[in-house]
Amino acid sequence: MNLVLMGLPGAGKGTQADKIVEKYGTPHISTGDMFRVAMKEGTELGLKAKSYMDNGELVPDEVTIGIVQERLNKPDCKNGFLLDGFPRTVAQAEALEAILEKMGKKIDYVINIQVDQDILMERLTGRRICKNCGAAYHLVFHPPAKEGICDRCGGELYQRADDHAETVQNRLEVNLKQTEPLLDFYQTTGYLKNINGQQHMDQVFADIDFLLKGLV
Ligand code: AMP
Repeated sequence: MNLVLMGLPGAGKGTQADKIVEKYGTPHISTGDMFRVAMKEGTELGLKAKSYMDNGELVPDEVTIGIVQERLNKPDCKNGFLLDGFPRTVAQAEALEAILEKMGKKIDYVINIQVDQDILMERLTGRRICKNCGAAYHLVFHPPAKEGICDRCGGELYQRADDHAETVQNRLEVNLKQTEPLLDFYQTTGYLKNINGQQHMDQVFADIDFLLKGLV
């Protein structure tokens, strides 16, 4: 199954991606995660991405498209992939079409998780991540048992630089402006499937799974 997962930051793409990977074993390709790993390792890619990410801006297309193309050509993507956070612009979507065409593949579904902006603001600013294992918490909706400490591994929790309130506002605006034409693009191609992301996460997954069952 060749899938693209879409939704504004905080819509629950990461959570749903985990569920899809767990059930179907599809390789999860998150450009945000790839950039964060590169930053942590201090690679050239990480240095290029850092200033954009810290300001809640999109990393330039030529950098982003390059890393996705490289990743899609890895052997584990032979039977499918789950793109999360890519494409974010029409230029990236067009580049993806060209990359897939060369590989003799096409997208099955673009799954768009829809959540209202005020809810996203609350979700993102309250989010905390474990420095050690990457587990995600929320100050209100999913607090750790002990403040600032990961339940799973005891690691220290932190707030991602791009989850600070002023950055989140900018991030949502940038994303909204960029993704509207992208949604139009995928509406036209017929790949787009809208999912209500304001339901319980298990129900969101049940709606997605209903679609995916038709592909296997
Ligand atoms: P995410 O974890 O998907 O919210 O991504 C975090 C940050 O990584 C974004 O705010 C961008 O700075 C960068 N990023 C991730 N994916 C892309 C993409 N497809 N195009 C440009 N920048 C991206």
